[in-house]
Amino acid sequence: MTAQRRRFLKMLAAGAAGAAVAGCAPGPSDGGRGAPGPGAGKPGQRYRWRLVTAWPPGLPGFGTTAVMLADTLREASGGRLSVQVYAAGELVPAFEVFDAVSRGSVEMGHSAPAYWKGQAPATQLFTGFPFGMLPAEFNAWLAYGGGLELWRECYQPYGLVPFPGGNTGTQMGGWFRREIRAMEDFSGLKIRMPGLGGDVLRRLGATVVNLSGGELFTALQTGVIDATEWASPYNDLPLGLHQAAPYYYYPGWHEPAGAIEVIVNREALESLPADLQALIETACTAVNHQMLSEFMARNVQALDILVNQHGVELRRFPDEVLEGLRRASGETLDGLAASSPLAARILKSYREFQEGVSGWQAISEGSYLGARDSRR
Ligand code: CA
Repeated sequence: MTAQRRRFLKMLAAGAAGAAVAGCAPGPSDGGRGAPGPGAGKPGQRYRWRLVTAWPPGLPGFGTTAVMLADTLREASGGRLSVQVYAAGELVPAFEVFDAVSRGSVEMGHSAPAYWKGQAPATQLFTGFPFGMLPAEFNAWLAYGGGLELWRECYQPYGLVPFPGGNTGTQMGGWFRREIRAMEDFSGLKIRMPGLGGDVLRRLGATVVNLSGGELFTALQTGVIDATEWASPYNDLPLGLHQAAPYYYYPGWHEPAGAIEVIVNREALESLPADLQALIETACTAVNHQMLSEFMARNVQALDILVNQHGVELRRFPDEVLEGLRRASGETLDGLAASSPLAARILKSYREFQEGVSGWQAISEGSYLGARDSRR
């Protein structure tokens, strides 16, 4: 363990202990609704938990974030909370993580809210959605705009407490076996795209399927699908998708902030003493930011390898296609709001926050990036 990591863990443990003393386990935005209850466990007791993920074994970024969370919890708790991490399929398949944690078969999960539309359509909104907020904006909404309270309210009926547990940053538009030149090209396209982005493409005539990460390469290579999105260069490279489709499109209009979740069984969480509950919240906040940094750093390297070593064809979606996708996204989101009062409330909160933050972003980061990179 590096000295830097030791200092970080020491700081984390001190923060958790401080929070427990003050009796304030929940984070800054926690208004109480849906938040963990008072700790019931004994302070000296040891806990052995299991964490199931929706990721293929050893997958960089996603899988390593789950391991980092487990390591942090074990080290910062002095071994009182040890968490064993399982890849998709080792205990439960990728798309059964939500249900397994909900029924208490395991205590924790690491997955994507976009996967759970079958359980409750509103869950998808917490991955972020088409033409929505960027990671820093999204995290600000969760922490200070009421987003986390809404997320916890959404998962409450399933006995789950969600925490932000990672973010990919803005994703890529996906891998395509043929080019997209106009909106008509989505018609009849067989594409893997979970969540609301998939709903948008379905509206445009695409055949949309959901496959887990481990299934993508074969489906794309054999022509079962014509296209797939996964994440971004760092995480797409190890799946080998560049060997199955030549065109790599951007931007990832459908997932501007690929938010990942840690879900905890509520009864299990409340069985912990208050300091360990606080530690989970703090450790999740830490990995949430760490994963974003990891993707930012590694995407640069992976994109270089994809383009310069593997000859991948980078393509930007034409402006008219992006405009068409933006319009169809608005209609799709309005349809979701009409189908679920909870989704309508979440969307209202999210959209109001986005509108406010957009004005600020235009004169801060947007303006700055334009000036900084103007010579490119
Ligand atoms: Ca994705």
